[in-house]
Amino acid sequence: MASRSLSPSLTPCLWITVSVVCVCLQLLCGHVACGDAQNAREVILLDSKAQQTDLEWISYPPNGWEEISGLDENYTPIRTYQVCQVMEPNQNNWLRTNWIEKGDAQRIFVELKFTLRDCNSLPGVVGTCKETFNLYYQETDSEVGRSLRENQYVKIDTIAADESFTQGDLGERKMKLNTEERIIGPLSRRGFYLAFQDVGACIALVSVKVYYKKCWSIIENLATFPDTVTGSEFSSLVEVEGVCVSDAEEEADNSPKMHCSAQGEWLVPIGKCICKAGFHQKGDSCEPCGRGFYKSSSQDLQCSRCPAHSFNDLEGSWRCDCEDGYYRAFSDPPSVACTRPPSAPQNLVYNINQTSVSLEWNPPADTGGRNDVTYRVICRRCTWEPEECVPCGPNVGFSPAQSGLVDTFVTMMDLLAHANYTFEVEAVNGVSDLSRTQRLFAAVSIATGQAAPSQVSQVIKEKVQQRSIQLSWQEPQQPNGVITEYEIKYYEKDQKDRVYSTVRSKSTSATVNNLKPSTAYVFQIRAFTEAGYGTYCPRLEITTKEEATGRMAAELLSLWIYTNCPVLFLYAPCRHCGYSKADQEGDEELYFQFKFPGTKTYIDPETYEDPNRAVHQFAKELDASCIKIERVIGAGEFGEVCSGRLKLPGKREVSVAIKTLKVGYTEKQRRDFLCEASIMGQFDHPNVVHLEGVVTRGKPVMIVIEYMENGSLDSFLRKHDGQFTVIQLVGMLRGIAAGMRYLSDMGYVHRDLAARNILVNSNLVCKVSDFGLSRVIDDDPEAVYTTTGGKIPVRWTAPEAIQFRKFTSASDVWSYGIVMWEVMSYGERPYWDMSNQDVIKAIEEGYRLPAPMDCPPGLHQLMLDCWQKDRAERPKFDQIVGILDKMIRNPNTLKTPVGTCTSTPDFTTFRSVGEWLEAIKMERYRDNFTAAGYGSLESVARMSIEDVMSLGISLVGHQKKIMSSIQTARAQMLHLHGTGIQV
Ligand code: AMP
Repeated sequence: MASRSLSPSLTPCLWITVSVVCVCLQLLCGHVACGDAQNAREVILLDSKAQQTDLEWISYPPNGWEEISGLDENYTPIRTYQVCQVMEPNQNNWLRTNWIEKGDAQRIFVELKFTLRDCNSLPGVVGTCKETFNLYYQETDSEVGRSLRENQYVKIDTIAADESFTQGDLGERKMKLNTEERIIGPLSRRGFYLAFQDVGACIALVSVKVYYKKCWSIIENLATFPDTVTGSEFSSLVEVEGVCVSDAEEEADNSPKMHCSAQGEWLVPIGKCICKAGFHQKGDSCEPCGRGFYKSSSQDLQCSRCPAHSFNDLEGSWRCDCEDGYYRAFSDPPSVACTRPPSAPQNLVYNINQTSVSLEWNPPADTGGRNDVTYRVICRRCTWEPEECVPCGPNVGFSPAQSGLVDTFVTMMDLLAHANYTFEVEAVNGVSDLSRTQRLFAAVSIATGQAAPSQVSQVIKEKVQQRSIQLSWQEPQQPNGVITEYEIKYYEKDQKDRVYSTVRSKSTSATVNNLKPSTAYVFQIRAFTEAGYGTYCPRLEITTKEEATGRMAAELLSLWIYTNCPVLFLYAPCRHCGYSKADQEGDEELYFQFKFPGTKTYIDPETYEDPNRAVHQFAKELDASCIKIERVIGAGEFGEVCSGRLKLPGKREVSVAIKTLKVGYTEKQRRDFLCEASIMGQFDHPNVVHLEGVVTRGKPVMIVIEYMENGSLDSFLRKHDGQFTVIQLVGMLRGIAAGMRYLSDMGYVHRDLAARNILVNSNLVCKVSDFGLSRVIDDDPEAVYTTTGGKIPVRWTAPEAIQFRKFTSASDVWSYGIVMWEVMSYGERPYWDMSNQDVIKAIEEGYRLPAPMDCPPGLHQLMLDCWQKDRAERPKFDQIVGILDKMIRNPNTLKTPVGTCTSTPDFTTFRSVGEWLEAIKMERYRDNFTAAGYGSLESVARMSIEDVMSLGISLVGHQKKIMSSIQTARAQMLHLHGTGIQV
């Protein structure tokens, strides 16, 4: 449509002049100025006023709406449409805008500004003049061309003027600019047209503005909310999730949200974002903390300066690093200063009370900047020379505790007597374990004093008779010296005045005689050493037997007629069938039950702080004037060995061997030399060489030993090759085994048992000698260094001792087998001239020395048993002694190999179930047997394993032991029947 200039002469409505338009536009401008904020939320789709060129809308019929150009008050050209066919009836003039693309709008605002002529002011138009027009729209997805079909339009509203004319101040008629706004929506197509239908009014359409509303992108609470189009309904709010600005994060469970109102306003903010650790808020953004500052958590508002002894070189840090030597405990928050371990405790003092040591100290000068300082104590037991310390182990008690001590004192209890200890007291705090710097501690070295022995344990009633009770017990776990005797205190339980009696015993068993029958007695036992008496063990109540009745005597008679020497079997249960599997270290319960009562425990002299103390604890100091040296008989490691005489006051003169310590010895040599006496002095057995005493307070330092006329066994046998009977040789072996049984019972492991270390006296009695610790081995010319680093007499040593230095009584048993071979071959060198390496290899591959010439098979079998690879399979010395005893008593057995069952005790020799149970060390079940009605051995002999189990004997080992004895009994009873002996 071509634009035309406004001309007052053209139509009745030509009085609408530019000036009027200008007046109107001024009003319009004022309105726009007031609505700036609102406009800021609008997205304009069409603004006719903003267009400077022709609008070119469609007008139909062509003589209806007309596009007319004008100027606003700023003389800016504007486009208007006018129609004024008021004179003609039946007007239907349409004006349609161009296609308006709606974009993402849902609700469209249409703002019309127009003037409308009052029909009353127009003469002659009554009936034809109208004062309204109609507003329509049509939705389409694209432009539909320039034809206009009325029926496709949807009516929005009929628009009327508020006031068509007003009277001006000077009486002139002014036209009022009307503003009407209508809303359309929700819209579903991509765009739409607006149409204006005039039905005979005089209208000037000054501007048409089409827009929708948006909530514009905003940052609120550190969250960005994007541009958001308002909802389709007037009342709807659009919920929008915010996105945290960079280096911010959502507050936990409080994610940011806002609501966009229909008016394009952001309403109701919920939740928020907060700056991450290392960042703080500045305006609407998060900025990194500066160097030397940190912010450990998003919850913190501000960055803080690094705490003491910490730093950081980077911006945006959540924490500060500790300076060198300073640390932060895991539980320390980043806000606390870095700290360091405390200095050592101060002024450590100690107090020794026998085997207890108390320590006290002052807190460290520097707590490291913390207030969580505690103390811990490290306890080590040390040998003298070389000074080697080992941790004290679990037997030492700490009161109140070993570590975590809050107070500055501690007491250590149950230390060994005469031992050297080092205690380190360390102050620790929360960062001590993080520090790699050297530990700081206060230390003291302390030697414990002498202490009374601890309590005896496992008191067993061995035999209860009418008038006597035999007891046995275990030596105290901590003898703290040599136990010279035990005191057994007892009294009649029901006696009012409780008069005690005491009995003393040198061994761990005793028989209390002269008791009353059927009377309850209470027993208590304690041990005695140089340090005095230990405490009594708990009370044990035992009732003596009733006086024998006629019935009991008859029962005893009717059962077993064959008795020989029941004592022989008293301690032989493990010989019943095969060797006891009880390891000498493991399976303690079993082992200690079979251990012959009455033995002491060997004390390692190295555990003494002062070796002089040890030697005087165990050896008698002799007056040198009592010793007469006669001649040199050999050479020892420390000096000559002489023979001589010892005459002690009030005693007869005896022959002695005197070992001397050569002049110019070192302190260590003196200690090592006397060490042998400290060990030997603890032994008292006919088959262990006897120490007469020592001379330490004069020179030369001497060890005086009983004289063994025939010297060492190996050379003695070589000298007398073939001159002894087998029984004589077995007698020698029996002696050695008995000596070794004694030593192993004491817990002493010899490590160098060989014929060269056995001495022989004039009566052919063999005695074990050559005691010491490592010195013995060093001294042995047979000892060679092995790959495990020790010096070992390979040919005599068990494989596990060579390989892992596992020296036990079981490895001594291996060596004993070699001694047997040496003896039976009259001092032949074991494995002849094979190299040590070849010997080790051969043994590993299963090779064993063959029987020496004329050696009875039974003896060779015993040797082979001693050389079992599995040390648990080897016989114990106790069993070896038993086997050799049997051979001596019955030389015929030498002819056949001693099988594993040859030493079974004779069931038929027992007179009662109780006696039998005692012999197999199962007397604890005596009541079980009685309660179940097994009162006779005959009934016992018929028992099955189920019967045994039904007695409540739950330990499998015990069940087997009892069953094996019962089975043997059956065989023996069969044998007796067969030989015509009546049972
Ligand atoms: P030893 O230092 O124990 O190996 O002794 C060296 C040598 O002295 C031995 O081989 C024996 O010949 C001899 N000898 C050691 N002790 C005695 C003793 N009690 N009676 C006789 N001779 C001994």
